[in-house]
Amino acid sequence: MIRVYNTLTGKKEEFVPLMPGKVGMYTCGVTVYDKCHIGHGRSVYVFETIRRYLQYRGFDVTMVRNITDIDDKILAKAQNVAARESIEIGAAWQRVIDVNIAGYYDDLKKLGVAVADREPRATEYVDKIISFVQALIDKEFAYESNGSVYFRVRRYQERCNCYGELSGKKIDDLYAGVRKGEDPDKEDPLDFALWKAKKEGEVGWTSPWGEGRPGWHIECSVMATDILGATFDIHGGGKDLVFPHHENEIAQSRAKTGVEFARYWLHHGLITIENQKMSKSLGNFTTLSDALASMPADVLKIMYLSAHYRSPLDFSEAKLTEAKRVYERLSILVTKLDAYEPVSVTNVTLLKLRDAFVEYMDDDFNTPAGFSVMFELLTAVNTHDENDTAFFGQARQLKDEMFSIFGLECRTTTQAVGLSDVEIEAKIEDRKIAKKNKDFAKADAIRAELLEKGIVLEDKPGGVTEWRVKV
Ligand SMILES: [Zn+2]
Repeated sequence: MIRVYNTLTGKKEEFVPLMPGKVGMYTCGVTVYDKCHIGHGRSVYVFETIRRYLQYRGFDVTMVRNITDIDDKILAKAQNVAARESIEIGAAWQRVIDVNIAGYYDDLKKLGVAVADREPRATEYVDKIISFVQALIDKEFAYESNGSVYFRVRRYQERCNCYGELSGKKIDDLYAGVRKGEDPDKEDPLDFALWKAKKEGEVGWTSPWGEGRPGWHIECSVMATDILGATFDIHGGGKDLVFPHHENEIAQSRAKTGVEFARYWLHHGLITIENQKMSKSLGNFTTLSDALASMPADVLKIMYLSAHYRSPLDFSEAKLTEAKRVYERLSILVTKLDAYEPVSVTNVTLLKLRDAFVEYMDDDFNTPAGFSVMFELLTAVNTHDENDTAFFGQARQLKDEMFSIFGLECRTTTQAVGLSDVEIEAKIEDRKIAKKNKDFAKADAIRAELLEKGIVLEDKPGGVTEWRVKV
């Protein structure tokens, strides 16, 4: 039985999907105004791990992860580009999103996170967003004002008395926190934009209310319900999205469909750097591509897995050192077990380890506890009779199951550096010949070239050169 912590109820609950055996899952993806940072990396990786675990437990998972390709930050970037390069705003916007979407997919690939079953972009959904907004206007949950459309929070609250059900915010407190009349286009200060009228120097799409663009919250409601249905199983995102983004997604979706929106809300914790908030102004902003250039993807994943997904995760030098140590230990396990073909597990010790792993992961995807099972497996492997090859084949199978859920390789060979063993051996041979010919410059160049690619050479007595992956 899988139990998940549901932000909506504030409790751990048994996970029972709407349709037996099937799971519909929507997670809020990136806003493509800049490069992804390691917080985005955590988000995509956390939900990828959850998806893979649900698949491991036999569910047929449909995963949707959106791309926000129009919003204030993207427009601000595009306006800078347009001014700098003297090009049209439309072309500048296109360039900003093209560059950052390409970067996002490149990061996903390097991190080893699969593309979701559907990766809809907001601007591909403009027609459906307009219909959704029109339906809310027809039901009087929304109104047009000066070319923009706003959602009536107060009317929604009067109907269902449930605004704030996700975030726990009280509507009176929210009123206390806003100034009345701040935005003269709104009937009420809590109302939020579903559609934003085009301003000078912006891109826009044609709508019944004039040219404009979708607000941020509406795109997720429209894409999620269009692809997964009015009610679906899991909605995920970072804790920073609970309010207002997810609260508003619920409000506008329920106002339109009249039925429950997402049934389980899963929120991951955020990342700090040496216990400080990550931000550009603090100079500790780490992009995902920089992180992946400085360490194997497996090390970064081990960092991510070291905290429960709902907890904050602090990136520190100490944590990184620890993750590298774990990587090395797991590499030992891989080297040892990959010499055997996987066979189905019957050994009692290994079955117990698998049960323990499933029990931990069933408990709200407790990856730190799940990880401890991998170390127990390592101990079992290291202490087992070397002649019992059947045991090692089964251990390989169990290792492969856990590794595939976490998307780990931990190969001492060269997946991480893009060179095969044969290529490395050939380079070592070239270097040996160069040394023999007293061409030390060439020998040094080969060593440097391999080091650049993350391969460390160690010359041993007797003219033997060993190599290992630098961590
Ligand atoms: Zn969203």
